[in-house]
Amino acid sequence: VETYDIVVVGAGPAGLLASKKAAEGGAQVLLVEKEGEFGVKACAEALSKDAVLDAELKPSSNFISNEIVGAYIYAPDENKKVEISMSETGYGGYVVNKPLFLKELAEAAAAKGVDIRVKSKVVDVKRDGKLVKVMVFDGAKTVEVKAKILVGCDGVNSIVAEKFFNRENYQLISCIQYKLADCNLDNERVTRFYLGRKVAPMGYLWIFPKGRKLANVGVGVRGEPAKKYLDQFIETHVEEFRNSKVVKVEAAPIPISGQLDEIVSDNIMICGDAAGQVIPLTGGGIHSSIAAGKIAGEVAAEAVKENDASKARLMEYPNRFNSYWGERIRKSLKALRVMEKLSDDDLNQLANILTGKDVIDLANGLNVERVAMMLMKHPVFAMKIAKFLLS
Ligand SMILES: Cc1cc2nc3c(=O)[nH]c(=O)nc-3n(C[C@H](O)[C@H](O)[C@H](O)COP(=O)(O)OP(=O)(O)OC[C@H]3O[C@@H](n4cnc5c(N)ncnc54)[C@H](O)[C@@H]3O)c2cc1C
Repeated sequence: VETYDIVVVGAGPAGLLASKKAAEGGAQVLLVEKEGEFGVKACAEALSKDAVLDAELKPSSNFISNEIVGAYIYAPDENKKVEISMSETGYGGYVVNKPLFLKELAEAAAAKGVDIRVKSKVVDVKRDGKLVKVMVFDGAKTVEVKAKILVGCDGVNSIVAEKFFNRENYQLISCIQYKLADCNLDNERVTRFYLGRKVAPMGYLWIFPKGRKLANVGVGVRGEPAKKYLDQFIETHVEEFRNSKVVKVEAAPIPISGQLDEIVSDNIMICGDAAGQVIPLTGGGIHSSIAAGKIAGEVAAEAVKENDASKARLMEYPNRFNSYWGERIRKSLKALRVMEKLSDDDLNQLANILTGKDVIDLANGLNVERVAMMLMKHPVFAMKIAKFLLS
């Protein structure tokens, strides 16, 4: 039997930051990852500049594929689009190579003293008196590791969340993405989002350019298989995709039902996708997972020092997370619930009314009240949207 102060499950953005911060706080930390490498799970790889800074990395061409300076949001009538510019909204960032981004984070965590084990899958977790018992299968044998605190950063299919938390209301959107080479995009510095029942029922389709004609093109839909929507879009957008070739097909779900009510219990914490910490309207979860991991890691290390891993002590993590990120997630979820009710006609009209800044604020759960007050003046949208957003 091995012993550690803290075991972190999953080396995604959440787990890499949680383990790093816990080690920085003086704890002995083991990070276990079931895959043989980092970043195997599908991702469209878009990040804000602040996310990279919050991840405590210097922007570097080692992991940045392309810099983004704006976005186009297409209404169902694709002649209408809202343009988002960096100067007007601060929107911008990078499309990264996520495996390389995570590798840099892993190196930073290892430099702080985290023991990292890949190809090591957590197959069971149990409480054991004042400790937690973690069973890790390394491909040949199962090892038992005991820890004072277990941090579950093990994504959508989290074994930690499954065992210790209530995920009854946890909802997923299924996504499929192609990495497409030889795309013909007139501007490779903007991300593109397409909305509407025909393109992506209850979701959206994205084109995130990686530079040099390579792009992540994917779609999330609810209630139907996603693939036919992606294929149909590519077939009908001849200008952009006439010569394009699929170089990789990836699929994974995103939790879009907001944060779970409870994310800590005695000796146990969960972060990132496992805890539903994704901005629901955009499906973006890298930055929020990084933020959650950092706080959880810091709190876990402090709790170990104080020899108090009780739920009451660990509550510092959700309390700190919720004051900013929890609020953003909650408001973005509200905006998503409104969007779900809108017809394609409504969306076409909204494209004439909303500015780039409005769209960014709504999607990210920032200044939602400001947009709602503006929509209050509109005869149709006052009732349909504004009232709900202000409630
Ligand atoms: C198609 C798609 C596109 C996306 N695009 C974006 C985007 O452009 N920008 C953005 O911000 N977000 C995006 N997201 C969301 C983002 O990928 C996630 O929110 C983010 O990766 C969550 O980080 P995490 O650390 O919580 O979990 P994950 O990144 O899922 O990492 C969990 C890790 O745990 C490991 N693991 C799981 N179970 C076990 C186990 N039992 N034992 C050991 N290890 C285990 C997994 O292998 C994985 O490495 C996208 C998601 C999808 C599906």
